[in-house]
Amino acid sequence: MQIVKDEGPITGEQIAEKLNLTRATLRPDLAILTMAGFLDARPRVGYFYVGKTANQLFTEHVRKLKVKDYKSMPVVVTEKLSVYDAICTMFLEDVGTLFVVKDGGRLAGVVSRKDLLKIALGKQDLQAIPVSVVMTRMPNIITCTLEETLYEAASKLMRYQVDALPVVRPMEDGEGLEVVGRITKTTITKAFVELGQESVV
Ligand code: ADP
Repeated sequence: MQIVKDEGPITGEQIAEKLNLTRATLRPDLAILTMAGFLDARPRVGYFYVGKTANQLFTEHVRKLKVKDYKSMPVVVTEKLSVYDAICTMFLEDVGTLFVVKDGGRLAGVVSRKDLLKIALGKQDLQAIPVSVVMTRMPNIITCTLEETLYEAASKLMRYQVDALPVVRPMEDGEGLEVVGRITKTTITKAFVELGQESVV
């Protein structure tokens, strides 16, 4: 890197000579440095230093991750489902947030653990109350799209202090949003662990 920084553009052959190595020995190292974005190579010109720090490269890498590659399956219920059944669904599906839909999959609301705990504190018959009574409704739902970056989705989770975002796209008839996935704090934690395992360099 230092040689290229000082003397670039410089050919692989010339770098090898300076290090008393063969071009073949150096080839994998140069390939890694080029792939990682530290160096760039132009045919017949040679290698030159791109001038980005590891930090900049990491940030660029993080901001390329897309919601569509990390989203998980959404757990969706209808508006008429009782609060009692919604609680059972949360346990059975092992999720903390349910997305509520109406007429053919249109996003209508979101129900979280605390929405259900709150209503369960009262003396009402949980089998008789529909989730639509306790859910947060459209248009107050924070969503994300397939093409958005995971970083943007994570920023929304933080900014709006919620645990999950429905991944949505416009319904075919153009009215409302169809739920096609889910991004949760767990999704972000998983991606973070993966980033820690893979080496950018
Ligand atoms: P918990 O209830 O476990 O604290 P959240 O922090 O996700 O879970 O939910 C807090 C409140 O925000 C609840 O009333 C819930 O209905 C609402 N909520 C959850 N997710 C969203 C979202 N994506 N958009 C709008 N409101 C949401």
